[in-house]
Formats: sequence, structure tokens, C-alpha cells
Amino acid sequence: MNLTESDKFRFWSKVKINSADQCWPWIARSKFRDGYGAFKVKRKQLRASRISYTITKGQIIDGLCVIHTCDNPSCCNPNHLLLATQSENIQDMCRKQRQARGEKSGARLHPEKCSRGELHGQSKLKDAQVQQIRNLGAQGINGHAIASKFNVSYRTIRYILSGKTWRHTLPTQFRVGNTKNGLARK
Ligand SMILES: [Zn+2]
Repeated sequence: MNLTESDKFRFWSKVKINSADQCWPWIARSKFRDGYGAFKVKRKQLRASRISYTITKGQIIDGLCVIHTCDNPSCCNPNHLLLATQSENIQDMCRKQRQARGEKSGARLHPEKCSRGELHGQSKLKDAQVQQIRNLGAQGINGHAIASKFNVSYRTIRYILSGKTWRHTLPTQFRVGNTKNGLARK
């Protein structure tokens, strides 16, 4: 992504810059549904966290995600941003859900910020549909057939069937640390 000096200036004007260890919230109105800031470059809406990372730390290799260590989707503080693979990103979301028990945790104080299931902006599926997908999978229905029925990618179906996503819709005993059945690989 090529950013001009004026892009960079425009970007930081939309961020409330606090001290190095505090969150730097996105203060412009344009946001994605999941709370990430949306910044327009060449008529394309991009995630503010990715822009912040690119400006301060360099280009992001294709296919990698930027995740927050602070559990605050609108935050643009580069000190709170890390590169991760897509599967690490999913693991990270699950970890945050599991740790959301302490009173001080962000996910506890702001459950709406915790990316899980239906609340997550990128999720196209409702919890009930995920249950249907599991049932079809359990009946041995081909993953490609299920994918086309629900209009999602084959990968999404595979993830659901292997329990890598939507773990919170699983019975409790499958969610945390139960590695016997491979559902809670970490
Ligand atoms: Zn932050």
C-alpha cells in the first residue's frame, strides 16, 4: 500500500494520540461494523489498524492480519498492534473470550468488542446456521455442497467442522483445553 504524506497526515488527524502505553482510539465516524476504523485510500476503505501498522512499522506481507494486544478494535496505537496469521487471529479471538472472566478485562467491560460469532463483522453465518452446518457435516454431507448451500467458502465450512471457529457455540466441555478430540487445538 502506497501512502502519500498527505494520506499519513489525514490518517493521524482521525486518531486520538495518547501516551505510548494508552489506546489511541479512532475518532472519525467512518468505521467498520466490528468497530475497526475505516480509512479511505484511492476509493478503497481500509482498516485503520493496518494503516497505522504500515506507517509506523512497514508494509504488511500479503495474507497477514494485524491484531490488537489491547482488545480494542478502534485502537491505532502501533504499540498495541501485532502481525498474525489468519489462524493465529482466530486463536487470539478465542483466547480473549476464554480470558474474559477477570473483571478488568476489556472483553468483560466491553463484551460488544469481543469478536465472537455473530458479533464479529466478518461473520456471515448465524449461530443457528453453524449448528445446521455441523449437523450436515455429521451426516457426512460433502463440505463443498454445504459451502454452496450457505454461500460461504469451503474453508469456512472446514473450519466450522473442525471446530476452529465458532467454538463458543460448542458445548462447554469442548471449548477449553480439551485436546483429546482435537477440537481445542492451540
Ligand atoms: Zn490499544
